Amino acid sequence: MSGAITLRVVGVVAETHDAVSLELVAESGQRLPYRPGQFLTLRIPSAQTGSVARSYSLSSGPHEGGPLKVTVKRTEGGYGSNWLCDNAVVGMTIDSLSPAGIFTPDSLDADLLLLAAGSGITPVLSILKSALAQGAGRCTLIYANRDENSVIFADELKSLTAAYPDRLVVLHWLESVQGLPSVRTVTALVAPWTDREVFICGPVPFMDAVVTATGDLGMDRTRVHVEKFVSLSGDPFAEVDDTGDAALVEVELDGTTTEFAWPRNTVLLDLLLARGVEAPYSCREGACSACVCRVVDGEVKLLRNEVLEREDLADGYVLACQAVPVTDTVRITYE
Ligand SMILES: Cc1cc2nc3c(=O)[nH]c(=O)nc-3n(C[C@H](O)[C@H](O)[C@H](O)COP(=O)(O)OP(=O)(O)OC[C@H]3O[C@@H](n4cnc5c(N)ncnc54)[C@H](O)[C@@H]3O)c2cc1C
Repeated sequence: MSGAITLRVVGVVAETHDAVSLELVAESGQRLPYRPGQFLTLRIPSAQTGSVARSYSLSSGPHEGGPLKVTVKRTEGGYGSNWLCDNAVVGMTIDSLSPAGIFTPDSLDADLLLLAAGSGITPVLSILKSALAQGAGRCTLIYANRDENSVIFADELKSLTAAYPDRLVVLHWLESVQGLPSVRTVTALVAPWTDREVFICGPVPFMDAVVTATGDLGMDRTRVHVEKFVSLSGDPFAEVDDTGDAALVEVELDGTTTEFAWPRNTVLLDLLLARGVEAPYSCREGACSACVCRVVDGEVKLLRNEVLEREDLADGYVLACQAVPVTDTVRITYE
């Protein structure tokens, strides 16, 4: 199994009627470093397929020093979320990949505008707690939920507001009272904070409305960060199969250039992670652009692409999580 860590469940907390937090520690006793906003990828047992992999953002803050905490909200008809909510008990172990993701502020001192809906609060809470405890900036959280009973972390947010009255503003949006947030209403809510670094996480229609609103307000796109919650269709725990035909790939990342045999049935991201290269990624489904890199020589094929435009592709940009080699040699840069 590539880079899996065994975690032990040391706490199970019912957050709302349909969301549960799992507190986890590494079985080895090792403390796992992570940045606020990052996620774990858990291997969830399945009688049908052996296992399914699902990612869950860490709702704990690294500075808290306690167990890793993920918060899982039941998805109607979903397999993994319901399995975890129904079966996770203190003492059980679960395999995970190391914390990963790029939905994290460069500086905890920046002034932040955070927008979350439903379970999208998990990475956002981690960023918020970290920024308040370790940074100096001001934070505004706009948090949308179906109704009052669905608000995950209501008490923790109340305590944070009381502890940081001069630096934190929390605005709740309840669908049961105010209706679904629209581009028009979100634009009005966001307008006072257009100078902020923005982090958005929630269901697709919510994120689309917020991204459109920030665009309409002329906010710098590079300062607007989104985290997409999608289910993994592949198995990131599987070993890279070295036995078949392979191309040769040269990869430049963080000032280091390395060369690997690249099995033709393996996507670039899986190869790099299996070889110990800390390549960036998030959704692994071709739906975000966290793993974007550029082909400077050779050709690759993308199995799936929901984000890169025709011009990006023409400039050589590709998604490492979906790229397989076409030519015998390929040169890739992340710089
Ligand atoms: C980076 C990242 C971080 C995340 N963080 C969190 C988090 O903090 N908290 C959280 O709760 N979630 C989080 N997620 C989402 C999580 O990984 C899962 O996608 C979510 O829990 C749903 O998984 P599931 O197995 O329950 O649902 P799935 O089984 O994947 O089903 C999802 C939906 O598809 C439908 N469906 C399934 N199979 C079919 C089919 N064959 N045909 C038609 N419809 C079908 C289901 O009915 C359901 O509505 C995150 C995702 C990512 C990528």
